Amino acid sequence: MQTTPKGLRLHIGLYGRRNVGKSSLLNAVTGQEVAIVSDVAGTTTDPVEKAMELLPIGPVLFIDTAGVDDVGALGQKRIEKTRHAIKRTDVAVLVAEGESWGDFEEELLQSFDTAAVTAIVVFNKVDRSTPARERVVALRENGRQVVEMVASERRGVAEFKQALLNVVPESFLEPPPIVGDLVSPGEMVVLVVPIDLEAPKGRLILPQVQTMRDILDSDAYCAVLKESELQSCLDNLRRPPALLVTDSQAFLEVGRDTPQEVPMTSFSILFARFKGDLPTFAEGAAAIDRLQVGDRVLVAEACTHHPVGGDIGREKIPAWLNQHVGGELVFDVVSGQDFPDDVTPYKLVVHCGSCTFNRRQLLSRIVQCCQAGVPVTNYGVAIAFSLGMLERALGPFPDALARLEG
Ligand code: SF4
Repeated sequence: MQTTPKGLRLHIGLYGRRNVGKSSLLNAVTGQEVAIVSDVAGTTTDPVEKAMELLPIGPVLFIDTAGVDDVGALGQKRIEKTRHAIKRTDVAVLVAEGESWGDFEEELLQSFDTAAVTAIVVFNKVDRSTPARERVVALRENGRQVVEMVASERRGVAEFKQALLNVVPESFLEPPPIVGDLVSPGEMVVLVVPIDLEAPKGRLILPQVQTMRDILDSDAYCAVLKESELQSCLDNLRRPPALLVTDSQAFLEVGRDTPQEVPMTSFSILFARFKGDLPTFAEGAAAIDRLQVGDRVLVAEACTHHPVGGDIGREKIPAWLNQHVGGELVFDVVSGQDFPDDVTPYKLVVHCGSCTFNRRQLLSRIVQCCQAGVPVTNYGVAIAFSLGMLERALGPFPDALARLEG
């Protein structure tokens, strides 16, 4: 299993008085029971750390500072430890309860500002006490992200992730490798690139070139061929390739010719992961089977022009989805920066490959859909699903495969 070095994880510091629900917040956000907080006074002065994968952000390290509001010698020690924790915090999360906001919270915010650490304010347990509206407005006017939650019931988790996404420094939103984590140095990848009428004249398209570059950066190597040459290539290799990547158009043919033991995926799937959140897209694709005649589907294109395969989102995917449900679905298409604030009328959102968006933009939309409980997938994942190839194409990505299979 590949692990992310601690230094490359986004360090999220949890701050706040004891018993405001920092532990519940962590459990709610991670969906795991992570008991990292000792609420027994005097048991520890050291912040506790927990490394994990927080989708859709990526690898993070939560630092829990325990309660820092207590007085006395031990309290002083904790305060010092907290100051140290701030120094290695990328994003601070100040957890508070509406009623108990006071100098303690204001001073912590001040400490974050002094250390130039971005802070999110979470008012937890809002089912019991809500923060004063003027306070929320004032915090927001000061540019703070403010989230209201009932962490013990997992209410507000999506809003919390969105707030996190809004403030995560750009360097932490670096996409995962395209194939670098799937192949080892010295291994071979076969790339299947159909050259048909749709292929641009005299060149390869950017995702193909980027994949090759990533293979070279990984000290691996590749064979680039058309689907008609695949069989002969596989026959001539002394050992099977570590990975085979095909253009979606040739999926069926390539799937037939490639032995099951060779891990196989598509360029579109690689880029769905690179740009977005592949497990969420896989789960979204599974929702296609639940669509019913008359349901609304939103097709979102990230740019207003569509230079590559212009009819995928407006014609091919709608035609296939209609055929799949055995009747007419209602399609809305949005493009560029247009994206509805309310996606709840939709039973599915199908997003384009987002080559013109940065990762944060697409992840924000994904979080918005998850928050609204609306499945979201993308063109490449939907196409693989429509061809009955998604399960196989997710073979190299067990976490996404698990979400497809529910
Ligand atoms: S994948 Fe999206 S962003 Fe890229 S060309 Fe097509 S519509 Fe535009």
